[in-house]
Amino acid sequence: MTGAGYQLVRTPSIPGVLKPGRLYVSNRYQTASHLCPCGCGSRVVTPLGSGQWAIQMGWFTATLHPSIGNWHLPCRSHYWIRKNQVVWAGLMTEEHIERNRRSDRQDILQIHNKDGKFGGSDSHGNDPYPPKG
Ligand SMILES: [Zn+2]
Repeated sequence: MTGAGYQLVRTPSIPGVLKPGRLYVSNRYQTASHLCPCGCGSRVVTPLGSGQWAIQMGWFTATLHPSIGNWHLPCRSHYWIRKNQVVWAGLMTEEHIERNRRSDRQDILQIHNKDGKFGGSDSHGNDPYPPKG
């Protein structure tokens, strides 16, 4: 399964230019680095160690603890990286709340879309099993 997520790259030192979709881990410098998954392209550095981030590494996967909150970035993205996968955390910043207020209409549209999707399943017991030939 290769979907949205990172590819673990073990490296002696973090390169100057990061490729998107890569999670670089340097044991030597005890640090990990990646590009923000929101797409803003910002470099996110997570130092590893006590009081900082803990990393769990498998053969090809990495999990970072705790969550990564990029409050210093304009995007203020907040997420976990679990087994290379980005798990988005809820944004609870004032800016987000304000943005929500401004994009009320968008939210309503999204709700409408969801309703439209699930609206068809109003009638229960309508299991879409394909007929066997
Ligand atoms: Zn970002």
